Amino acid sequence: MAIGNQGGGRSRTGPPGIRGTGIRETGIRGTGALIQAGLAAEAQRDGLDAVAGRYATLIPPAFLDLIEHPHDPIARQVVPHPDELHTAPQEREDPIGDDALSPVPGIVHRYADRALLKPLLVCPLYCRFCFRREHVGPGGGVLDDDALDVALGWLRDHPAIGEVILTGGDPLMLSPRRLGRIMAALDGIAHVHTIRIHSRVPVADPARLDDALADTLAGDKSIWLVVHANHAREFTPAARAAIRRVQTRAIPVLGQSVLLRGVNDSVEAMEGLLRAMVAARVKPYYLHQLDAAPGTQRFHVPIQEGLALLAALRGRVTGLAWPTYVLDIPGGHGKVPLGPGYLDPHAGRVRDPSGVSHPLAPGPLDPEAAGHSLAARGAAG
Ligand code: SF4
Repeated sequence: MAIGNQGGGRSRTGPPGIRGTGIRETGIRGTGALIQAGLAAEAQRDGLDAVAGRYATLIPPAFLDLIEHPHDPIARQVVPHPDELHTAPQEREDPIGDDALSPVPGIVHRYADRALLKPLLVCPLYCRFCFRREHVGPGGGVLDDDALDVALGWLRDHPAIGEVILTGGDPLMLSPRRLGRIMAALDGIAHVHTIRIHSRVPVADPARLDDALADTLAGDKSIWLVVHANHAREFTPAARAAIRRVQTRAIPVLGQSVLLRGVNDSVEAMEGLLRAMVAARVKPYYLHQLDAAPGTQRFHVPIQEGLALLAALRGRVTGLAWPTYVLDIPGGHGKVPLGPGYLDPHAGRVRDPSGVSHPLAPGPLDPEAAGHSLAARGAAG
């Protein structure tokens, strides 16, 4: 597979309905524009208005340009659907327990040595599968100065916190001045040695991540940017340039994705995504099992299917592209890796990438089996 074609190098112009309307420049924020762009049917208007009453919608120009039809893997992530108002029995408003683990506004403390700092709940787009979708939106959700001081004070008062994860919302939606203030405050907390910034901006609004914003991220601590992207087409030339602006400031960039039905749930789509990340010098970090937030059932991929998908990739992509497939245990019990597993410790056996089982203790050398194993290793890289 040619890596150069994975990152959206083709020029796209978005759905035909947006031509000459100005929608391409502004993006889509409501039902009328969705219908005008041909991304929803007139018959869905009432249902979509009801969805809009509960969840924010924003399809930014960078994503709009990538959409070819209402059911493609880019559209599925951002085009609202009337099913969002149907809550499946297993779905919960706070599926991973953020609210219960928040000692002060803007802080989530789940692990002894790490804490989330959420300075705002605004995003460059609104993902239809987001587990924070009850909270995020353009209408506010920014910690004011007093609340930010309280959150930073909590971090100062907890010397066990060595790593702060800036998330939201999306921290790169802050102005350079405000983000710079937060980074400087974290820089001044001696026990915080690592700052991780989680963002969708590099792919959703790459022009926003300009030199001024990238400058605010640079510092002496161990600073990491984690880009959330779910399909290879999100890695457009503009997105890769934005990522590069961060990398040139000595900030390593990781990738995280959610396993989503109709977006990246095929071997080809997942392979393309992982290859596009590596081609952009983004190390695939986490592949998340979807959190069971209300109205997200249409994106659900069963864990067994996710494991089979990753097992099928084992011989196809370099180990450099291999993410950790993780589940946030419902209820706030933490994140665990899901596999796939290759070891059967009770039987003393291990499966190779092609699924053939072998004893862990070496037996007499079988030249034919050794040749097969070498070929499999070569393929796995
Ligand atoms: S950018 Fe992140 S926080 Fe915002 S809607 Fe998407 S997944 Fe949720």
